[in-house]
Amino acid sequence: MIGDTLAVDAGALTSGLEIADQMKLTACLVSHAHMDHIRDLSTLADNRCQMHAPPLTIAATAETIALLKRHFFNGLLWPDFTQIPSPQHPTIRYLELEPEKRVEIAGHQVRAVLVSHTIEAAAFVIEGPGGSIAYSGDTGPTDRLWEVLNELPDLKALLMEVSFPNDEQGLATSSGHHTPQTLARELRKYPHARVAADAALPHQACLPGESSSASAPRSRASPWKCSSSAITSSCSSRRPTSPLGRAQEAVLTDPTTRRRVATTAIVLSLVVAAFEGTGVTGAMPSIAASLGGLAAYSWVFSAFLIASTLACSPAASSPTPTDGVPCTPSAWALPRGLGGLRRGPIDRSAGVSSG
Ligand SMILES: [Zn+2]
Repeated sequence: MIGDTLAVDAGALTSGLEIADQMKLTACLVSHAHMDHIRDLSTLADNRCQMHAPPLTIAATAETIALLKRHFFNGLLWPDFTQIPSPQHPTIRYLELEPEKRVEIAGHQVRAVLVSHTIEAAAFVIEGPGGSIAYSGDTGPTDRLWEVLNELPDLKALLMEVSFPNDEQGLATSSGHHTPQTLARELRKYPHARVAADAALPHQACLPGESSSASAPRSRASPWKCSSSAITSSCSSRRPTSPLGRAQEAVLTDPTTRRRVATTAIVLSLVVAAFEGTGVTGAMPSIAASLGGLAAYSWVFSAFLIASTLACSPAASSPTPTDGVPCTPSAWALPRGLGGLRRGPIDRSAGVSSG
C-alpha cells in the first residue's frame, strides 16, 4: 500500500485489508498477470461492487491488461466488472501504462519499467514529494530497471523479490526469479546503494574472490546496520554486532543445528539431573540429621525437590539477551545445574542445594 489509496499488486489485498480500507482505494498497480499478484482483484471488485464504491483503476501494461481481460475478468472465470453494475458506472477501469512514461495515479507519479520474467512483467517507480520508491515485482536478473534507478536522485527504498534460496538456483532461473546470490550481483548495478550487498544477504552471496568486506567501500554504514535509505530486500537493524552474537544467530537460524543443539541440551539436562539426584539422595540422611534429625527428612527432601523444579523452570533460567540474540533456556540452565552439582550435597555449609 502507498498511503490509503494506492495498492501495488493484489495478491493479498482483501485478506489483508478491512472492508472500510478496501473502499478507500482508488487504484491498484498490477506488475504482471500471475495469480499470486492478481487473485484478490476478484474479491476486491466483488466487495466494492456490493458497497457501491467508485470505479477502481487497475493500472498495468497493455499485455497484462489483455491477460486480465482474456483469462480473469472474462465473464467465465469471474464477471467482467468493467460492465457491472453498468458500462457507464463500472466497478473497475483499466489504465494502460506505457513503459517508462510517467502517469499520475492516486496522487503519485508512476512509471512502469519492464523487467525479466516468464511473462511480461513490470517494476514500478513511484515518485512523490518526499522521494521515490521502487518495487521490482517478479524478476530475475535485468538491466533497464537499474539504469532507471541510477537516474533517480531521491530513491528512498527498493522492494525486491527473492523467491528461492541459493540451492534452488536452477528453479529460480527457469521461473524468472531471484535468489540471494543473483540479487547480490544485481545490487552491484546500483553504485549508490548505501548498504553493502552482503549486509543483507548470506555471505555466500558475495561474488567469487571477494570477501564480505570487498563491497564495503560502497557502504557508508556499518556492514551490519541499515541506513534510513537502505537498498535491501531484508535488512534488519537488529543484526548482532559481536562475533558471539553472529555465531548465536547462525546457530539459531539453521534448522538442523537448532535440532542438534536442542537435543544435546535435553540430554545434558537429564545427565545433570541424574547426577544431582544421585548425589543429593546419598547425602540426604546427613543433611536431615544436621537440620534436626530424621523427623525433618520428608521436609528437607520436599524442599530439595521444589527448589530443583524451580531452578530448572524456564522462569528461573530466563533467557539472557546477548547482542539482541536470546539464549535458549536449556542452554542457560546448564551452567546453573553444573554449579549446583559442584557445591551441593557434599558441602554441608551450602545447605540443601537446588543446583
Ligand atoms: Zn510471476
